[in-house]
Amino acid sequence: ATEAEEKDLVIIGGGVAGYVAAIKAGQEGMKVTCIEKRGTLGGTCLNVGCIPSKALLNNSHLYHQILHDTKARGIDVGDVKLNLAQMMKSKDTAVSGLTKGVEFLFKKNGVEYIKGTASFAGEHEIKVNLTEGGETTVVGKNIIIATGSEATPFPGLEIDEKRIITSTGAIALDKVPESMVVIGGGIIGLEMGSVWSRLGSKVTVVEFLPQIGGPGMDAEVSKAAQKILKKQGIDFKLNTKVLGGDTSGEKIKLEVEAAKGGKKETLDADVVLVAIGRRPYTAGLGLENIGLETDEKGRLVIDQEFRTKLPHIRVVGDCTFGPMLAHKAEEEAVAVVEWIKKGYGHVNYGAIPSVMYTHPEVAWVGQNEQEVKASGVEYKIGTFPFSANSRAKTNLDTEGFVKMIADAKTDRILGIHIIGPNAGEMIAEGTLALEYGAATEDIGRTSHAHPTLAEAFKEAAMATYGKAIHF
Ligand code: FAD
Ligand code: NAD
Repeated sequence: ATEAEEKDLVIIGGGVAGYVAAIKAGQEGMKVTCIEKRGTLGGTCLNVGCIPSKALLNNSHLYHQILHDTKARGIDVGDVKLNLAQMMKSKDTAVSGLTKGVEFLFKKNGVEYIKGTASFAGEHEIKVNLTEGGETTVVGKNIIIATGSEATPFPGLEIDEKRIITSTGAIALDKVPESMVVIGGGIIGLEMGSVWSRLGSKVTVVEFLPQIGGPGMDAEVSKAAQKILKKQGIDFKLNTKVLGGDTSGEKIKLEVEAAKGGKKETLDADVVLVAIGRRPYTAGLGLENIGLETDEKGRLVIDQEFRTKLPHIRVVGDCTFGPMLAHKAEEEAVAVVEWIKKGYGHVNYGAIPSVMYTHPEVAWVGQNEQEVKASGVEYKIGTFPFSANSRAKTNLDTEGFVKMIADAKTDRILGIHIIGPNAGEMIAEGTLALEYGAATEDIGRTSHAHPTLAEAFKEAAMATYGKAIHF
């Protein structure tokens, strides 16, 4: 190859971590190249994750609501039919609009976009197998690895994305399966389980642990969520492990048993969704060529400045430490470019919100009660139910509550947990409060518009240091 021009920054991966870093670097006047092999920008999140799942969650909720929740509202509807192909098309429209939008932002910010698969040929040289054929070499003064993650496979169950599926199959089924077993009651299992349950599948969630929601969810909230989702028609088998499956017949037969050993049982399913977590993806990157290693979980090891042991190579997003969330990747992407360009950058890992987009939504930020208890800090709790909130009442959408955990001595907020309508939007206020080191009294003495769901948030804060007015 001919001598390649050296770029200020080369980014491997055009997911949220990679594309945000690329745009930020462009804005900072750096000469930047982003290499992505998928064919479109936006990574897991835009193509097969956050965006398509939320499109299906929204429209399946609407469908379910029209089927079951209009009479009491004074709306008589006639024949309601699902048009799954159109629902999928509208999801695809959201995805392509956003991925093309990122491509536009690349152009706007002077980012060079190379479609192809990157691997390290040297510490500064990256070989790219171009999607359109042929190869090229890119040289970077600085390099960011942002190659993301992939679904963790379940040993013995081969993914075909038709009958044994990951989330990628779950956003693209062409008919509603009669029955679906979800292995893993974490966020993906509950979001995608909700979608197909609303559309008519008999969904059973098999979870190894005694609680649903995955890591981080407050136990009290998790219990409430399970109860509500059960009422919506999802079955749960907690403390249960899947031993294996037989896919030879018309129905898939899954053998399960109590996690601590016990009676075995066989579950029949038309489709099995494997949702037991995701793992960092660094395959084919040629890390061995430059002596970089991953830890026991497959994560690239970095310091606070996102540097590997080769200081010009940094890592952000799902392929390194921390929660696998798009907005975490985005924060890191901005910070890493600031580290490179300015020598400082910051991410507050203690104030990254989590949201499960079921109905009602579950959202939280900071520590859950189990964690606070374990830390030994003296704490107090304020809760407020949406059944006592005027707006939730007018909306006939009153399930759930706000739970605020504060330091018993100082009122400083330690964690906020919401299950309820619009919890995902409301948690932004909680995150800001936590970020600013607010006390619950700061929130309790802030005027919140009436009638809004956010008043439940204010009243939960009041309940930590005094009493809520409406409950
Ligand atoms: P990715 O998005 O995985 O991007 C990495 C990119 O790198 C990929 O496009 C890949 O093709 C590319 N790549 C890899 N290796 C190479 C190579 N050698 N050469 C070139 N390119 C390469 N998070 C939320 O915050 N909110 C949500 O609602 C949410 N919903 C989700 C729903 C689902 C079904 C899933 C699966 C995930 C969801 N997530 C959500 C998680 C979110 O998608 C990830 O945290 C986010 O995508 C991480 O971004 P990333 O850039 O680190 O990795
Ligand atoms: P997760 O870690 O949230 O949940 C996995 C669940 O599977 C856990 O409850 C775990 O106990 C269970 N499990 C593990 N092995 C099992 C086994 N053998 N049998 C039965 N249960 C088992 O992972 P996920 O739901 O697959 O999601 C992957 C990642 O994607 C997460 O990091 C998540 O945060 C992210 N994501 C986020 C969103 C969102 O922000 N709304 C949506 C989807 C995915």
